[in-house]
Amino acid sequence: MITYPELVALDDAHHMSVFGRAPVAFVRGSGTELFDVNGRRYLDFLSGLAVTSLGHSHPAVADAIADQARTLLHVSNLFLNDLQPRLAAQLDGLLGGGGRLFFTNSGAEANECAIKLARKWGQTNFGPERFHVVGMLGGFHGRTLATLAATGKPQLHEAFQPLPAGFRHVAYGDLGALDAALDGRVAAVIIETIQGEGGVVAADRDYLRGLRRCCDEREVLLIIDEIQTGLGRTGTWFGFEHAGIRPDVVTLAKALGNGMPIGACWARAEVASAFHPGDHGSTYAGQPLAARAALAVLAELERIDAPHRARTRGAQLADALLAIPAVVDVRGRGLLLAAELGPAADAKSANARLLDAGLVANAVTPTALRFAPPLTVSEGEVAEAAAIVADVLAGEDR
Ligand SMILES: *Cc1c(COP(=O)(O)O)cnc(C)c1O
Repeated sequence: MITYPELVALDDAHHMSVFGRAPVAFVRGSGTELFDVNGRRYLDFLSGLAVTSLGHSHPAVADAIADQARTLLHVSNLFLNDLQPRLAAQLDGLLGGGGRLFFTNSGAEANECAIKLARKWGQTNFGPERFHVVGMLGGFHGRTLATLAATGKPQLHEAFQPLPAGFRHVAYGDLGALDAALDGRVAAVIIETIQGEGGVVAADRDYLRGLRRCCDEREVLLIIDEIQTGLGRTGTWFGFEHAGIRPDVVTLAKALGNGMPIGACWARAEVASAFHPGDHGSTYAGQPLAARAALAVLAELERIDAPHRARTRGAQLADALLAIPAVVDVRGRGLLLAAELGPAADAKSANARLLDAGLVANAVTPTALRFAPPLTVSEGEVAEAAAIVADVLAGEDR
């Protein structure tokens, strides 16, 4: 068996240095547990960043993937396969119906589809100037050029100029700033209901309702990026349900495949009809293997009532974290939570010590830790993780 130092040497010598990796290499997982190359056990309270919502090596998903791999892995999207239309119907149902889907291989590609669709819809209906997209400061939408341009983190833009034109940003939560930004050139607003990468910051209900109203008044599309928040994680199937609004376009990925790379862009049928054959495409997207995995994932998420699990275990985790003296605040919803450690804290070093102690989490800001365990996490595992956090943070300066 290859050793950890051998893996690090290979990675250093041959992989592009873009990740800033934690000092561990995982080889196996089961449920909430991960095992590293030395056989050591960890509790996974990050889920590959809200991806493995059903836990690692879920038997129903593994069986579906193995069976499909022996049946039909891939055919071109020039032909129908027997799974993609069923997955589209399932997701459209979950999203309330009346829409159309396009499948992708990642979250960024789902947002690329949404942006291209908004441009086509805007320019077809309102003329050539109508292609701008307003995003939120602190928002994250991916690493491709267009989704980077939509991402509201100017420091990430600097090295990659020029970015595609037509993107600007307003303060998250500021309805007045948004209203002022919606001139006749804006085709769409893109927003997360909880900014995940931005620090687990939730938009409030009145703001999201006001945003919906502003978009309606100006005939601007509302694109909600549910890539991190969707499919039960926040305690409802989608984050926008907390505000009781309906988006025009929704993007999904992460939990949809429980680790199989698949994303989706959903749009109201009238909006989706702006796309015609040849306007968009992808070789792998929605191929039989990924679609079969996603169908198994959706069936299982529904069977276990994933939103209910997120609410129950989320409340337990939030309470346990709040009881730790070094934790000054807990934010987020369901099982997408951040523990704020206060202005003097060093979340990066705290997170490194959590990993040392056998808990996988992430320093989502310089002073906050993010927790996003599988929605299948048990009561005992939540208690075990909270005890590790309490231990590691004991003696931490506030
Ligand atoms: C992870 C994420 C993306 C990007 O998804 P990739 O699969 O990494 O391209 C986009 N938006 C949000 C909100 C995300 O959390």
